[in-house]
Amino acid sequence: MTPLPESESALLAALYARISDDKMGQEAGVKRQLADGRGIAQRLGLPEPREFVDNDISATNAKHRPEYENLLAAIAAGLIRIVIIYHLSRLWRNRKERAAGIEFFKKYGVRLIMVKGPEIDFATAYGRAMAGLLGEFDSMEVEVKSERQVSEMEQAVRDGRPPTGRRAFGYARTGGELVAEEAEVVAEAYRLLLTGASLSSIAKWLNEAGWRTTTGGAWGHNSVRSVLMNERNAGLREYHGDLYGGSWPPIVAEETWRAAHAILTDAGRRTNKVGSSRKWLLTNLAHCGVCAAQDIESVMLCTYRDDARRVYRCKRSPGHLTRNAAPVDELVARVVVERLSRPDAADLLVNEDAPDLAALRGEAMTLRARQEDIAAAFGDGEMTRVQFRTANERVAARLAEVEAAMGDVQRVPVLADLVKADDVSAVWDGLMLDRQRAVVDVLMTVTILPAGPGRRVFDPASVKIDWR
Ligand SMILES: [Zn+2]
Repeated sequence: MTPLPESESALLAALYARISDDKMGQEAGVKRQLADGRGIAQRLGLPEPREFVDNDISATNAKHRPEYENLLAAIAAGLIRIVIIYHLSRLWRNRKERAAGIEFFKKYGVRLIMVKGPEIDFATAYGRAMAGLLGEFDSMEVEVKSERQVSEMEQAVRDGRPPTGRRAFGYARTGGELVAEEAEVVAEAYRLLLTGASLSSIAKWLNEAGWRTTTGGAWGHNSVRSVLMNERNAGLREYHGDLYGGSWPPIVAEETWRAAHAILTDAGRRTNKVGSSRKWLLTNLAHCGVCAAQDIESVMLCTYRDDARRVYRCKRSPGHLTRNAAPVDELVARVVVERLSRPDAADLLVNEDAPDLAALRGEAMTLRARQEDIAAAFGDGEMTRVQFRTANERVAARLAEVEAAMGDVQRVPVLADLVKADDVSAVWDGLMLDRQRAVVDVLMTVTILPAGPGRRVFDPASVKIDWR
């Protein structure tokens, strides 16, 4: 490299460096970029360059680069005519930035000097073409690398290998083997959820038993949710929106995971009434009898009328129906225990509408295999894009139906513990409140009626119970 003529060396130079997330460990650190850049400035007899350093994570996303923008502003202000960089890829991260950058450098006649690469004068057509070509090679390198990563990932999914990355609770770091004690805990957490426990109460249960998340933290609503939502527990792996079967041991059956998934994602259904942590048995569960008489649906909230007295009152119109809560709760609990103690209680566990689980599982497997066949046929050029889309949509629609049906099968376990117990009353008393609420919700509709004028004694007939 020849020293610059006197007139140009008098102009101010800038040194731009950028550090990015470099998983391959191939790029020079900022210190090296700066040291080599200063060396070049010195050899060329340039004044000490003004330094601009950006720190960003990835070369391909559109993150803000404040120092790069400061550099452009300094160029536009006529303060900088020479820019020194380590490599062209430090300056522009993608085609769009490069195209804009080349135009900008042309406008201000910037000269670019690279530690790794030729010197480029943007005032000349040759220089600009050179910058464009060198940049294209940078882009190609980035794209080839990401293509390779995508195809490795796809291969891993097709081979049924477990996902890598952070350890999942219940599985060893390799992802292929269970951690037996944790897996049992995960299975129990699913059981609790499906029998009406809220995420918060499951978190509490885990914390009290001394369990910690895989990052060592205490359990909370969100961490429990993310464990239960993880399809890995059912031996499945998601890739681009599709599920693939894995070769690792599942913790729960697919239908259990689906049922949990349905509860955790369907805000309108059970979760609203039962899933969230409530303090009282019938809050948001019991209906208002005054509203019901006018064909309006409204539920009851629970509040304290004074320090001692807890009351249920209509959510829609708080004034028109207020009832002491404790006797209502006691009555409902007594009726539940009585119903579940009867000899025919076991009949409640028979769900005649339940679909045949084995058949559903088989159909889901067949449909997923069919999806893969369709994708392969399209990939091999055996079908057009339109044919592919039509065939794929048909299979996907049926698969969604089958998957939803699998999730519905698990409605009954809410009652199982109670029905099978010798002492139903004791088991009921020992249940977490949200599980008690789930039992009430599965068994009956409770409507609270007005007590009638002048009544001092609680009248059981003022609570209407309709069996489901
Ligand atoms: Zn009402």
